[in-house]
Amino acid sequence: MFSSVRARLTLWYTAVLALVLVTFGFATYTFLARMIRQRMDDSLAEAANAFATVFTAEHQEEEQSSDEAAIEVIRQFRFRDHHFIVYGDGRRLVAAAPAIAPDLFASDESLSLLPPMAILLETAVHSGRAYATLRQGDAGVRAFALATHVGAQSYIVVVMRSRHDQEEALEQVRHGFYVAVPLALLLASLGGYLLARKNLAPIVAMSDQAARIGAENLHERLTVANEHDELGHLAAVFNNLLTRLNRSFEQQRRFTADASHELRTPVAIVRGEAEVALSRKQRSSEDYRESLAIILDEGQRLTRIVEDLFTLVRADAGQHVLALSDFYLNELVGNCVHAVRNLATTQGLNLFYEPPAEMMYRGDEELIRRMIMNLLDNAIKYTAAGGVFVLCEQHEAEYQIAVADTGPGIPADAQAHIFERFYRADKVRSRAETSYGGGTGLGLSIARWIAEVHGGRLELDRSDATGSVFIASLPKPTEPA
Ligand code: ADP
Repeated sequence: MFSSVRARLTLWYTAVLALVLVTFGFATYTFLARMIRQRMDDSLAEAANAFATVFTAEHQEEEQSSDEAAIEVIRQFRFRDHHFIVYGDGRRLVAAAPAIAPDLFASDESLSLLPPMAILLETAVHSGRAYATLRQGDAGVRAFALATHVGAQSYIVVVMRSRHDQEEALEQVRHGFYVAVPLALLLASLGGYLLARKNLAPIVAMSDQAARIGAENLHERLTVANEHDELGHLAAVFNNLLTRLNRSFEQQRRFTADASHELRTPVAIVRGEAEVALSRKQRSSEDYRESLAIILDEGQRLTRIVEDLFTLVRADAGQHVLALSDFYLNELVGNCVHAVRNLATTQGLNLFYEPPAEMMYRGDEELIRRMIMNLLDNAIKYTAAGGVFVLCEQHEAEYQIAVADTGPGIPADAQAHIFERFYRADKVRSRAETSYGGGTGLGLSIARWIAEVHGGRLELDRSDATGSVFIASLPKPTEPA
């Protein structure tokens, strides 16, 4: 039931509001009760003071005994809800509002016998004034006692008032809260639920939209209602993700299409060659050898393409584990140069290599060899005359291996694409066999990946009519290997 964010939000909202309302109600009620009680105490004190003033005046003006004056004043002081009692010395009951006393107390005697009343009178004798709440009926009676002297006598004037009205008012307030708080909570939770639903509606719409997006319609985007709010931001982030996914899907699609296209040619050649070989009953062994040589050649080419593809797929998945070892980079470059020297000579090219100082390195030797061989092979393959120069340099933080040639250079518009997979600026020459195999258009992208996976870079430094220069930079090992 509470699995939806909407319901949980409403629940939280209602719970917090309930806490606030109950606290607020409780505080208000306490304050109100205290204020009402204070008012009653003030009014009792006021009435007692007025009574004492009139009592003294009555005694002086009428020249009657103080007890008689008390009885007279009690007669005059007829408030609807205030009850007066006058005690003389020793808790002697002098006068009491006659019509009222029987409502509150069983008898006049019981007035002075009630233990709280006794305490009240006692306190008033000592402190001059005192308050007490007497148990009487449901709500009780609030009493105020004031000690006063009239003539030679000392009296205690007690004013009492039933707490019934006051308690009834407070009860009404309580009942008001009992109804108002749950009603307010109900309305607020309903409002909260509707509000949550309204605010979460864009998320629901977004998830519906997102659910409809698949591989076939990855170009679709979520609607961004307001890009400045959180939901708009979420939609924008999601759309960016879709753009990136779409791009990599596109790349993947193109890669697959290019790969199958690349594989199709050697497979067609193998098939065609086999068909030709089998078409006639009798052929010379020379012819068979020729066909088989072509089939072997294309088979090798297929193997290379599949291996390159496999390398790239594993590189993309981040699954290629580097077989790290310590070796001398200068030696490895030397070995590679040695391996292609024959090929270069056969093509009438000069191969210049100045062995550098020791270059200690830590990396995947096989991969680094592959990168260098690819650069050398390309240089030889695409250079008709002149030479290939290999230069190793040590910089502060990196080693640089530069492979320069005197070839025709790479067309300006092709330079930006040569590191892309399957890109070949010179398709005819690219298919030519080299020491490292015929071109597949994957060589430079694999070489660049090798440099990058070692924390380095592979860049085309320069390419024009006088030749091309590729530079591979590899970071020096931080600690002595
Ligand atoms: P390929 O297998 O076709 O050589 P690469 O990825 O190694 O594939 O190279 C991509 C393209 O870059 C080549 O087809 C070629 O057109 C161009 N290229 C690479 N190296 C050179 C170079 N040294 N001189 C001229 N063109 C080059």
